[in-house]
Amino acid sequence: MSGATRPAMTLLVAEIFGPTFQGEGFSLGRRAAFVRLGRCNLDCGQGAGATWACDTPYTWDWARYDPAVELSELTVADVVGRIAAMGVDRVVVTGGEPLVQQHRLVPFLAAARDRGWAVEVETNGTIAPLPEVVALVERFNVSPKTANSGVPAARALRRRALEALRDTGRAVFKFVVADAAELDDVARVVDTFGLAPVMVMPAGTTPEEVLDRGRKLADPVLARGWHLTTRLHVLLWGDERCR
Ligand code: SF4
Repeated sequence: MSGATRPAMTLLVAEIFGPTFQGEGFSLGRRAAFVRLGRCNLDCGQGAGATWACDTPYTWDWARYDPAVELSELTVADVVGRIAAMGVDRVVVTGGEPLVQQHRLVPFLAAARDRGWAVEVETNGTIAPLPEVVALVERFNVSPKTANSGVPAARALRRRALEALRDTGRAVFKFVVADAAELDDVARVVDTFGLAPVMVMPAGTTPEEVLDRGRKLADPVLARGWHLTTRLHVLLWGDERCR
């Protein structure tokens, strides 16, 4: 970079939206801003055995979407400014897979801390977080991908990353499930990597699908001693983007 101006610290962003409600997990219903980062290292829904598909393919599937259209390189100051206008005290950093660009995320997380915003990071659990990321995040909403994602276990389940996230003491492990028959596979992953707490979320992009699957999963999930979340944003707004 000698002789050149060092570029401003930026994030590769798919969308920033809010204020809205956190629609899933332990903070369900809490007012928040969302920063959806671009790119992912998995491709849920495309492999054999998938019972659900990624609902944000525009963040990573360049066979179907154009990254020049879908993604923007924004400075941390831009991102902070847009969130500051929303009047929130909570930010959900999601994707895509946000930890793909975790080095670039640190300045944003520091700025969020300086403003008193709590930050949740939603991750697929394949990338171990940097210590400086862990220090600045209130919670990791980790969604490990089981066989029902169609992603081979060798790519989806990375021991070092899952154990590192578990050992932060700030992780909740949320599994996407379309049918109760898939819970045995979830249990295998939970046991293999010693994951807790565990939450099951019904797959679905329509209110009917989420409610129907949630009703069928409720008793089996209770019987296994786990938590259940719905998808509040889908119940309220279907698969509308930026809600
Ligand atoms: S890990 Fe998440 S963003 Fe990536 S393909 Fe799977 S569901 Fe989509």
